Amino acid sequence: MQNYKGFPLVFVVRKKVTVVVPVYDEAPNVSVLAKKINAEFEHSEYDHELIFVDDGSTDDTLVRLTELSECDKNVFFISFSRNFGQQNAIKAGLDHATGDCVITMDGDLQHPPSMIKEFLKHWEDGYDVVYTLREPDKTTSWFKRTSSKLFYKVMSLISDVPIEDGSADFRLLDRVVVDQLKRLPEIGPFYRGLVKWVGFNQKAISYKAAPRHSGRTKYSLNKMIQLAVEGATSFNIRPLVFSISLGFFFSVFSLVAYLPYMIYMLSSRNHFPRWASLISLVVFFGGLNLIVLGFIGIYIGKLFLQAKSRPHYIVQKSNLCQTSVPSY
Ligand code: UDP
Ligand code: MG
Repeated sequence: MQNYKGFPLVFVVRKKVTVVVPVYDEAPNVSVLAKKINAEFEHSEYDHELIFVDDGSTDDTLVRLTELSECDKNVFFISFSRNFGQQNAIKAGLDHATGDCVITMDGDLQHPPSMIKEFLKHWEDGYDVVYTLREPDKTTSWFKRTSSKLFYKVMSLISDVPIEDGSADFRLLDRVVVDQLKRLPEIGPFYRGLVKWVGFNQKAISYKAAPRHSGRTKYSLNKMIQLAVEGATSFNIRPLVFSISLGFFFSVFSLVAYLPYMIYMLSSRNHFPRWASLISLVVFFGGLNLIVLGFIGIYIGKLFLQAKSRPHYIVQKSNLCQTSVPSY
């Protein structure tokens, strides 16, 4: 094709990158982060949009986001009617992203925006997923480091998709992967596992987490346990199989070892505190029963939640085109 002066017309289609940031009470952080992300795209060959998902913040986060979006055409926000959790906020971001690839990152500047260029380089090299592993560092509390190590060890044992220690919700996803993730309707998505589960061409890179820019962690112990249970029971029913094996092992053990021992002790004349052995057995098997029932309960609970098919989140306000805002 030629233009009127006889020069060949070349259409340069610029690729678009969507950056999704879930935020919960991060008012002092959002504008600093937006500035840093925008700086990464200055004079770059990519168009970009920045979608903040306000996960029911109770501070001024929404006010800050509204101000930001009014003076920056690349900034968008989706605000939930209440706190639905970080994973659902990521889901909302993926549902609304229009980019050829999507980068998800935390809103407290622990995930360095300077890594965006490295993500894009690997994406251009043909990787569909570029995910990050956090380098071990001393600034994280002992409790967080140990519990996270334990969690990923257990996850690798019970799930089909090995999730490496230090995995974070800081990654790049190609449009094909985003479209596949959007098809998954499950309640309580756990993206660290789901991204592994969908497959495609994946590349891991390591990153050094920066200290939180402002505020405190939004993951209370309760929220961490919730996320861990969600992750552990999201992928298969192996924990149930494990429960059955555990129950079976202890039943056989008590029959072949403990019963003969008890008979021997009862028939002998020494002063054996029988009540103590009885109590310890009752407590032990009571605990075991509760663990097994707990596992079964979680799966039934998941069926219950899924059967109700409630939306993953409810949008209360957004500056994205309202007609394109599904509430789930
Ligand atoms: N977050 C969220 N909803 C929540 C909890 C956290 O959107 O219910 C966001 C939070 O604002 C941050 C990211 O998820 O952008 C990671 O949370 P945080 O930094 O508190 O976790 P940590 O780094 O301490 O594990
Ligand atoms: Mg953080």
